[in-house]
Amino acid sequence: MDVSKRTFLKGGAMIGALSAAVVGSGTTPGKTASGAPELPHANPGWHGFGFGDIRAAVLSDGPLDQGDPVKTLLGRSEAEVRDTMRDSFLDPQNMTLDQNVLLIQAGSRLVLFDTGTGGAPLFGPKPGRLMENIANIGVDSAAITDVVLTHAHPDHLWGLTGEDGAEHFPNAQVHLHEADHKFFTDPANDAHPLLGAFMPACRKELETVAKRLNVVRDGQEILPGVTAMLAPGHTPGHTAYRIDSGSKSLLVVGDLAHHHAVFTRYPDIRFGFDTDPAQMVETRRSLFAMIAAERMTILAYHFPFPGLGNLARDGDAYRWVPAGLDNAF
Ligand SMILES: [Zn+2]
Repeated sequence: MDVSKRTFLKGGAMIGALSAAVVGSGTTPGKTASGAPELPHANPGWHGFGFGDIRAAVLSDGPLDQGDPVKTLLGRSEAEVRDTMRDSFLDPQNMTLDQNVLLIQAGSRLVLFDTGTGGAPLFGPKPGRLMENIANIGVDSAAITDVVLTHAHPDHLWGLTGEDGAEHFPNAQVHLHEADHKFFTDPANDAHPLLGAFMPACRKELETVAKRLNVVRDGQEILPGVTAMLAPGHTPGHTAYRIDSGSKSLLVVGDLAHHHAVFTRYPDIRFGFDTDPAQMVETRRSLFAMIAAERMTILAYHFPFPGLGNLARDGDAYRWVPAGLDNAF
């Protein structure tokens, strides 16, 4: 099956229709049926902070429902995965991952890290909120000067364009590591057992921005204070980006770890969509050790919103310590 951005999942369609029905249920806006004030159902979806001279915001693209975690979290027993979910007060049968997109203002540049799903129906009705949240903080998406991609998976790349194929960031230079550029633009990978179905749509996104694409190399300072750190295994060119300003730094880790509880307790866990799971485990072990030893603040794309915090060593494992409202640094 070819999976295009327009592929619709039946469950998602049903939930979409259901929420439309609830919205049109006939009560006065802001009031419940009894006339009492109605509390908002939705959360703001953005979080502002700063470090050094940089102003920043994490913008949610909305959550990704992953279903049964034992189908995608591999290499550990079912009991280990489910018990870790339960110990974290989470549903052991259903895993949900957030999507935390970072926007920074550094000098004259406005830099976005990853782009979300672009509202592709494939992911159901919850994701696809990035553009709405960019507007919510008063930023014109045409003013974004750079889009830095940690890798070219659909939930990070497809938000380059909308459902109508129009570019979301028409003036931005797009940065992607050379190994991912090579992998995701090679038609031979349409036969890839894990990712083949997504390949044509990923290639189309990259073709759309081809003229403004900067192919990144490991260790390259792609923008003043923003340095690429190849972290391969999830994809061939999966890359973390270190952002330095004065004495402060933030490490954007992309999909180094998908779930905040399971991957920290078991750093050797394998994710079902890793192109090279063994290489990714090696990458994760080495970066986790560095992050903990250097007490670095990280932004994890799929951790609970806004995904900012630290990793503390705990024997052979780690603990995720989320930052509070204004104390990431
Ligand atoms: Zn992802």
